[in-house]
Amino acid sequence: MGSYAGELGVANHYDPPSLLRALVLGGQSNLDRFHDRVACPTNAVTYERLATLTQRDIPTLHALTPHRFAPILMAPGYEARTLDLSDGTRLDLLPTERTGLVPLRSDRACQYCPFCVAELPQHRLIWTPTLVSACVRHECLLVLGCHACGRTTAAQAIVVGHCGWCGADLRDAPTTSVAGDDDGLTAQRIIQAWFGDGSTPDWARPLVPDQPPNVLYRVIDGLQHHLQGGRRPNVTRGGTGWTYTRRGFIASYVPALLRDESLSMTPYRSYHMTSAVVKSLRAWPAGFHTFLDAYRERDDARDAPGHDNYNYVLLDLAGLYGLWMRTHWNHPAFAFVHEAFEGYVTARLSFSQKVKRSVLYHNGLLRAEKFVYIGIGEAAKIIGTNPEMVIRLLDAGVLARHDTEDKPKYGSVSRVEAKSLGAVWASAPSRPQVMARLGTGPHIVEDLADAGLLAVVNKPGGKGKQHWAFDPVSVEVCHKRFSDNVTRLDTEAGVIRDDLITILDVAHIIQAVDMRAIAALVRVVEGTLAAYHPVGGEVHLADLLFVRGDIEAWVAAVKDEQGWVNQEEARAIIGVVPKTFVFWMRQKLIAPVASRDRENARYFDRAEIEGFWDTYVTARDAAAIVGVHVHQLLKWTRQGVFEGICVSGRSLDNAYAYLFDRMKLIRWREGHMTQRELVTALGVTRFTVHNWEKAGRFARIPELGPAPWYARSATLIAPTNVAPA
Ligand SMILES: [Zn+2]
Ligand SMILES: [Zn+2]
Repeated sequence: MGSYAGELGVANHYDPPSLLRALVLGGQSNLDRFHDRVACPTNAVTYERLATLTQRDIPTLHALTPHRFAPILMAPGYEARTLDLSDGTRLDLLPTERTGLVPLRSDRACQYCPFCVAELPQHRLIWTPTLVSACVRHECLLVLGCHACGRTTAAQAIVVGHCGWCGADLRDAPTTSVAGDDDGLTAQRIIQAWFGDGSTPDWARPLVPDQPPNVLYRVIDGLQHHLQGGRRPNVTRGGTGWTYTRRGFIASYVPALLRDESLSMTPYRSYHMTSAVVKSLRAWPAGFHTFLDAYRERDDARDAPGHDNYNYVLLDLAGLYGLWMRTHWNHPAFAFVHEAFEGYVTARLSFSQKVKRSVLYHNGLLRAEKFVYIGIGEAAKIIGTNPEMVIRLLDAGVLARHDTEDKPKYGSVSRVEAKSLGAVWASAPSRPQVMARLGTGPHIVEDLADAGLLAVVNKPGGKGKQHWAFDPVSVEVCHKRFSDNVTRLDTEAGVIRDDLITILDVAHIIQAVDMRAIAALVRVVEGTLAAYHPVGGEVHLADLLFVRGDIEAWVAAVKDEQGWVNQEEARAIIGVVPKTFVFWMRQKLIAPVASRDRENARYFDRAEIEGFWDTYVTARDAAAIVGVHVHQLLKWTRQGVFEGICVSGRSLDNAYAYLFDRMKLIRWREGHMTQRELVTALGVTRFTVHNWEKAGRFARIPELGPAPWYARSATLIAPTNVAPA
């Protein structure tokens, strides 16, 4: 508007052009505490006089002033100042210094595009906002002040095209091209669109959070404000009121500014800063988090004592957060910034006592449930145990140890993991709970305990196994060991192998070598047997799948290793007909190794089979040992002489073949003597033996006959007691 009024002045040959100013404002100083300004009038009287002079209506004139920026510059939650005209029209006015900050350059210290001025000597309203620093049409930085004398350029000077101080042609001002700088030009195009028609252009919507432009403007302004060191430079006075306490921050976040030695808010500085800040809105909140990272790495923070200290981090962020949130961004419209900030902190620090004591938490700016990671104490509370138990869980790898910036002594725990474990541990794990957790039956749970894969902490006497209580860590460790060792199979996606068998099938196969399902499970945990599990959900032992070939190879290996033979091999070694072999098996004279299930037993210990004839003898061999004819032996057997020595035979169990216990038979033989043997042992004649027997000194054994047999005790007759024949 300043330009417009000046333009009118030139066109109407007022001399000097500023005479119009005097005409419009004349006598008004008494009407209001504030001097009104032609460039940005706030009084109805000013508008009315302008309307009369220019023959334009008041809304048209209003649109030519920076007041048209009011909606974008108005912070959410503020009532706009308005100008009520006599015809009832209500026009927005810019906020005052007291109701909001007015980041506009003064019409006495303008910036301009020399190319635009060359095309049309007018001061463009879009050059007024501080955040505007480039001409997006000519892709160059705006020029601030006179290139020849360095003094400020008033809007009127732009209209006449010459410096008001030295007369230099402003169209000759050298420019800095930004052609090809996408980040910077994109930022300028977005911001200038907001100041233009007040909305985010469609092409720019994916680049910024989905929020109203006045809210986004506030965020950009606040971030830039912070880049500048916390104090707003006095740009309205053409300004260099620029504090520069965060040099390191600016250097790390806006590296281009390293080249700028000036400390004033030049278009160059504004351009790069705006470019960097608008970039921090991208991929929200990732860009913002990058900004916060840079903020925390700035020189003055990094050099601060205790920078690595957790408390310092919280305090430092509290300072930053408090400044923005509680002063400029406290309206609900800024909730998305709060969330992004909270997301930043809660993803990097674990929730602990320190957080609970922090200002941020105290003020409700951080919510406990938003923390991704938690400390040991908090984890213990969630799981329903004590911190020592949590440390054990971490050491055992049941809970993963996470690194967070606060670097707690024992590490940090994922809140989600702690919660799911807490759900599992709703009470101390009993046997049914362990069964549910592992997805298996009671016998397997007992076997796992016997195998040392589960620790039973409480075995109440007399109450039975259903009252066992398990060490929860061991349950989780056990579950984790299975989870870590099974391969997930996407059966839904068609990964179906027809050679897969269940744990029940496995149990059936390995029974043959005297093993049960637990043996397969132990091998899974040891990583020596491949197991598969459908994808999705927790690993359940009952759902484990195995490759049939693996199991068969394993059984064969066990058989070889143990020196086991199958039934046919065993029968061949003993050398009997199958019927006899089976009969002896049934009589438990031959025991397969898989003693638990004889019906399915198929393997025999080779050494045991080969030693069969060391243990037992046939009737023929038994007769040889006793020294009688086999018919005699069998007769005695039928008479019961070899009770306990004959283990099988027709008279005993209706077997086809007789079988004797070799050792027992030998011992029997040693306890009995033929008459010849007795004569030799006593060293007397056969006649003397006959006489002594007649005298009743000893007796022959009546069951044994017809040849006389004596007990070995017959030899114990003391010579002194022997009467002469
Ligand atoms: Zn231009
Ligand atoms: Zn000059």
